[in-house]
Amino acid sequence: MYKIAITAGHYLGTAGKRILKALDPNETREWVLNDRVVRKIIELLKEYEGYEILRTDDPTGKKDISVEDRCKAANAFGADDYYSVHHNASGVKKFTGGGIVVYVYNDVGDDTLALQKMLYDALIEETGLKGNRANPLPQSNLKECRLTKMPAVLGELGFMDSPTDVPIILSEEHADACARAYVKVMVKRGNLKKKVDRSADLEAENKALREQNAALQAKIAAAQKALA
Ligand SMILES: [Zn+2]
Repeated sequence: MYKIAITAGHYLGTAGKRILKALDPNETREWVLNDRVVRKIIELLKEYEGYEILRTDDPTGKKDISVEDRCKAANAFGADDYYSVHHNASGVKKFTGGGIVVYVYNDVGDDTLALQKMLYDALIEETGLKGNRANPLPQSNLKECRLTKMPAVLGELGFMDSPTDVPIILSEEHADACARAYVKVMVKRGNLKKKVDRSADLEAENKALREQNAALQAKIAAAQKALA
C-alpha cells in the first residue's frame, strides 16, 4: 500500500501569498491555486488502487494548520512520500521569476533526488512551463522538507508575480496538467494499478450460478417425482 501525504500550501488567510493585483484584479490567493491542484490530484487518483492518501491542510482553507502539524500528521500516518503544492513569487525582485521549481531538503538521499527529478520532468512534460530558472531543482532548508521523515518534494507550480505565468497558473488547463503530472509520479512511485471494471466478470458469474441453480431445481423435482 503506497501512503501519500499531500498538502496545499498555506491557507486562505495567509498574508501576502496571492497573485499581484496588477496582474489579477481578484488577487487570487495562493492557497486557492494550490487547493485546486490538490483536489484534481485526489480526483484523478480515484481511477487507481493500492494507495492511501492523507491531506494535511484544512480542505476548507479556513484553518491555518502549521507546517509543524502538517509534517507531524504525515509522519504519524507513515507516509511513503510527501507532496507539498505551492505557487511561487520572486519577492523583492518581482516580475523577474518564471517557471516551475521543485524543492527538496538540502541533506537528502538518492531516492528523494530521484523523486524530485521525476516530478519536475513530469510537470514540464505536462505543462511546458519551464520558465527562466537557472536551477529549477534546488535543495533548500525548507521546514516542510526538513521535518518530514519521508522523501518530501515541494512543487512551486509557476510565479504569481510573473506576467507570463499568471494567466497560465490561473487557467483550469494548467491545474489539470499539474495534477496529471503528480498522479503520473504517484503511479510510478507506488506501482499503482488502474481499477478494473469487474462488471462483465460478475455478470458471467451470475449467469453460471443461475444455471447451476436451475439444474439443482430440476434434480430436486425429479427426485420428488420418484418418491411420489
Ligand atoms: Zn507557498
